Order: sequence, then structure tokens, then C-alpha cells
Amino acid sequence: MKNCVFCKIAKGEIPSERVFENKNVSAFLDINPKAKVHILIVPKKHIESVKHLQEIDKELMGEIILAAKTVAEEKNLQGYKLVINVGREGGQLVDHLHLHLLSSDVKLSI
Ligand code: AMP
Repeated sequence: MKNCVFCKIAKGEIPSERVFENKNVSAFLDINPKAKVHILIVPKKHIESVKHLQEIDKELMGEIILAAKTVAEEKNLQGYKLVINVGREGGQLVDHLHLHLLSSDVKLSI
């Protein structure tokens, strides 16, 4: 989507500290970390939120979780939280579906 910050990051049009990438998924450090490790995993396809998921996105959502697992293994994380905020009332500020990977000393509840 044209003015979507995470679409631009996924395309490399806005700089980010990328930690994972494949055909469908990109992962990068959160610019304002709420934990020692705070990574965002996003689909390259623009999906506004969980509310906008369709049947066709089933496999993609699996890929997102598996990307989180891969990143966690690469960073040797023993435990972590995976969080998806949904809608403004659910704390979602960026309207491009993303999975937060948070680990160790989580400072804020997000
Ligand atoms: P949410 O509140 O679930 O929508 O989370 C949005 C997250 O995106 C926040 O944790 C922000 O710190 C993060 N964020 C916003 N802009 C950027 C950016 N340009 N690069 C990396 N992370 C970002």
C-alpha cells in the first residue's frame, strides 16, 4: 500500500535493521523497543490487521509464526512473547499486520 510504513520497510524504501527475510515475510528491529529484544515480523503483502485476514492468508500467517521461531532460534532466545495488537482499541498503531517478538525484561505491557 502506497503510504504504509511497513510496506515501505518491506520493500527497502525506508531503512530498517532487518533480521530476517524471505519471499513473503520480513522481520526487523522495532524502532522503539519495549523489551531487550523487540522484533516485528510482517507479511510483505499489505494486510491491515487480523480483522482483515482471509482464508487465503492461512499459510502466510503460519509463515509469520515460523519466521518468529527462526529469528528466536538465531538469537538463542530461551523464551519470548508473540503479540499481535488488533485495531486501535487493541493498541494497534500501524495499520499493517505485524507480530511483535519480545524477549527478556519486557518493560511495558503492549
Ligand atoms: P502496534 O502498536 O502494534 O501497531 O506496533 C507498532 C510498532 O511499530 C511500535 O512498537 C513502533 O515502535 C514500531 N514502529 C513504528 N515505526 C517503525 C519503523 N519505521 N521502524 C521500526 N519500527 C517501527
